Amino acid sequence: MGMESRVLVLAHCLLNKATRWWQEGKPLERNIGLAAEIIEYALRHNIGVIQMPCPEFTFCGNPRPSRTKDEYESLPGFKEHCDRLARSVAEQLKTLTSISVRPRIYVLAIVGVRRSPSCAVRSATRKVCGEVKVVEERGVFMDALERHIAREGLNVEFLEFDFDHPQEAIIGLKRILARE
Ligand code: SF4
Repeated sequence: MGMESRVLVLAHCLLNKATRWWQEGKPLERNIGLAAEIIEYALRHNIGVIQMPCPEFTFCGNPRPSRTKDEYESLPGFKEHCDRLARSVAEQLKTLTSISVRPRIYVLAIVGVRRSPSCAVRSATRKVCGEVKVVEERGVFMDALERHIAREGLNVEFLEFDFDHPQEAIIGLKRILARE
């Protein structure tokens, strides 16, 4: 790795669970604190972290209704909002990686959130025949981010964090680090 400084680019709620979807009647515990597993991993391996904006919170706040990807897609202005945020994140990553010489900044991965209609990498939720299904698709924001990342000429791996199975993302990170 030489003088490279590795960074992880994290979905906002991995560092601030308060922005996760919450509705009256839901336990508040799921919205307190951060995803400790990924932060501990970053600390142990001397990896920096960058926090992306939360597209749902910045558009709807909290509490907000539970929505699937298709429902967010049809929410007026939401796709454009995601596109603006994604463009800004991609530009930031382009700047960080293109003008860092010593140490050179290297983006290890972009980490989204499993089953999120906005931040899923391969597990967005969709209404199919009236039922909510997990489908192998990116969320609205990750869709836009992938496009802008490609437009900036960046080649970055996408991973998904599952709040119910946090170790899966850690296995993914170990796999990426082992390849270096
Ligand atoms: S998964 Fe994405 S949209 Fe949902 S709370 Fe986290 S950062 Fe916000």
